[in-house]
Amino acid sequence: MKDTISEAVWADILAHVRTDHAPAARGWFAQLRPLSLVGGELTIGAANAAQLTYLENHARQVFVEAAQAATGRLVSVSFVFDPAVGAAVAPVEREPLTFERENAVLRLSALYTFDEFVTGPCNQLAHASCCAVGENPGRAYNPLFIHGSVGLGKTHLLQAVCHRVLDHAPATRISYLSCETLANHFIEAVERGALHSFRYMYRNVDVLVVDDIQFLANRDRMQEEFFHTFNTLYQAQKQIILSADCMPAEIPSLEERLVSRFNWGLVTRIEAPCLDTRIAIVRKKAKLKGVALPDDAAMLIASRIKSNTRELEGAIARIQGRACFNNGIIDRNLVESALDQEVPRSDRILRIQDITSAVTEHFGIKLSDMQSKRRSRSVAVPRQICMYFARQLTRHSLEEIGGFFGGRDHTTVLHADRLIKRRRNEEPDFRARLEQIERTLSIN
Ligand code: ADP
Ligand code: MG
Repeated sequence: MKDTISEAVWADILAHVRTDHAPAARGWFAQLRPLSLVGGELTIGAANAAQLTYLENHARQVFVEAAQAATGRLVSVSFVFDPAVGAAVAPVEREPLTFERENAVLRLSALYTFDEFVTGPCNQLAHASCCAVGENPGRAYNPLFIHGSVGLGKTHLLQAVCHRVLDHAPATRISYLSCETLANHFIEAVERGALHSFRYMYRNVDVLVVDDIQFLANRDRMQEEFFHTFNTLYQAQKQIILSADCMPAEIPSLEERLVSRFNWGLVTRIEAPCLDTRIAIVRKKAKLKGVALPDDAAMLIASRIKSNTRELEGAIARIQGRACFNNGIIDRNLVESALDQEVPRSDRILRIQDITSAVTEHFGIKLSDMQSKRRSRSVAVPRQICMYFARQLTRHSLEEIGGFFGGRDHTTVLHADRLIKRRRNEEPDFRARLEQIERTLSIN
């Protein structure tokens, strides 16, 4: 196999992207370079981080399909940042940022509708307010701010509102995106001197939905920009819907004027689901996956996994996997063994000292370092890990945990908790590290 593709094939791939996937294509795709084709994997070089983020989030499948169409082979695609690509490109080819409604719609999951959402005392208010906004955008509650811990259905509800709005009025201009994507668009717009287009794009919608708005934390320029976007939309009675993992006031260094605006409409919290709701969710998800789950199995799963709906889904998937090797039979043994893989986190209450000793041992650092003001990475990361575990496994308040680690305030602890959760989700090596520490903790 050749170790890269010819210019002709590359041109063909780009042509496929432009014709078959027009909404995702961007003018700057012309800057991209095919770097290698090794073992069926095509590596494509991008000129900067903003391009890389866009490609990874929106264009991987597009390039896979285009590469397969152009080469007639099964090709996988990866993107890398390549300074040579950036250097070779004259910064002339600038297209205006364009708002494509199709794009926003495409990013909605067909499964995240109100029909698929199970309600209970934990989420009734959030659900009802989302329904009201879905029926009457811009009129019911504005802004609508939904907060709650990870995996409790915020994204699901936000997308359900979008579906509902579009069902009633298909021509509504909705922009649904995560705060990270918004931030990337903003950075890209700043880099390209295209703030104008950015503003036009986000200030001319009927409904703006931003998921995980807590990622505005510590981003001053972005906060400033969002403030004006918010005002423009609000004044025009356009609907704004936001979600976060905490209340507006708890988002670290969020400008006061944003905190107050986020509180103007309705702020509702989703709590962890109670047993009955969990059972109903398990049943619903099992049905959706075509898993014939006996009632006692649903009960068993729901009584073991308490805090996070995503984990309930994970358990069902594991059970489904195991059932394949058990002639499709789902019995108590099978469910038990699938659940044993799960750490019953909420049942274990530890002391903060157990956590610090496991973490200091793991990283070979001293407790006094973690309690000091030092901010170097070698100390800051273990400190954040301690805060995360303290939040998960002890009953201490945010203030107490912050106090223990050198008098830090509660927003620092929240930030650490959030950061570690995110890295746990996104970085397999990091997750392995945390799991290693967790193993030490369960022996203690
Ligand atoms: P969050 O955005 O709060 O982290 P998600 O909306 O991504 O959580 O939910 C995680 C998973 O759990 C999704 O697959 C979602 O469908 C499911 N889920 C959460 N709550 C419910 C619920 N009440 N009914 C049905 N599914 C739910
Ligand atoms: Mg979410």
